[in-house]
Amino acid sequence: MNEGGDPVTLESPVLLEPETKASPSIRVTTAAASAATPAEGPPVFELKKFSAYYGSFRAIKDMDMVIQPNRITALIGPSGSGKSTVLRWLNRMNDLVPGAHMGGEVLYHGVNLFDKRVDAVEVRRRIGMVFQKPNPFPKSIYDNVAFGPRVAGYKGKMNELVEESLRRAAIWDEVKDKLKSPGTALSGGQQQRLCIARAIAVQPDVILMDEPCSALDPVATLKIEQLMFELKQNYTIVIVTHNMQQAARASDETMFMTMGEDRAGYMVEIGSTSEIFTNPKRQLTEDYVSGRFG
Ligand code: ADP
Repeated sequence: MNEGGDPVTLESPVLLEPETKASPSIRVTTAAASAATPAEGPPVFELKKFSAYYGSFRAIKDMDMVIQPNRITALIGPSGSGKSTVLRWLNRMNDLVPGAHMGGEVLYHGVNLFDKRVDAVEVRRRIGMVFQKPNPFPKSIYDNVAFGPRVAGYKGKMNELVEESLRRAAIWDEVKDKLKSPGTALSGGQQQRLCIARAIAVQPDVILMDEPCSALDPVATLKIEQLMFELKQNYTIVIVTHNMQQAARASDETMFMTMGEDRAGYMVEIGSTSEIFTNPKRQLTEDYVSGRFG
């Protein structure tokens, strides 16, 4: 624990680049970088005996897991097993829920996310979230993307940042001629990619996605999955999905959760997605991925 003393910063090797500190600028992906296999590095997140509560109800019990950088980790399991709860603790969104509290530890690049000197607003900038229902602000497409950087005091060239963020979210070509139009006038799939551009614009390290495709048609879903694949070169992605085909085709690692008789969710197994879907270690996982329950 880091009680007292100097303020804790969340600096990580990823975020220590000088240009990121002085004047945030989008890191440019080169063809070589895109082709590179993501390196094994220290974990982005490490959960140790993590438990989560809503009042006296224990929603998650003693979870130990790590999330590796530049991977897509899918959280699967029956409804109510606590997938969204885990996600919402990873960027301290659950701080905002009355009565929600946690036990154990969540380390982010080795720093205890819940140390009282850690700034929750900064945590949410570095660890962005995309929700089930696309939720663009009632503003223009441009302002949706520029809003976060403006609030963060971004001093660079805003037009370039907006364009780069929209390009990275694979929506630039569709919106470049109507940047002043309302974000809410786009299709559902476009709105979700706009929300991803909005998340990218504040230079995050991690993007959390809570069932980002559940309100989208199959074509829009495929676009988001292709986009996730591109994004993992630069970001770590954690996605909650009810769609097992999506977890199987779009993620690198899969964590399967279920709940006990006390309704507390717990992790059954985590491993490479191919292993979880074709050769799981636990019978419960096998039963779930083969559709025998859930
Ligand atoms: P999942 O994402 O796997 O469907 P959730 O994380 O949404 O599961 O929910 C896990 C458990 O926590 C459920 O029993 C749910 O009813 C409960 N829960 C979720 N959010 C709240 C909340 N804001 N207040 C009280 N209980 C909640």
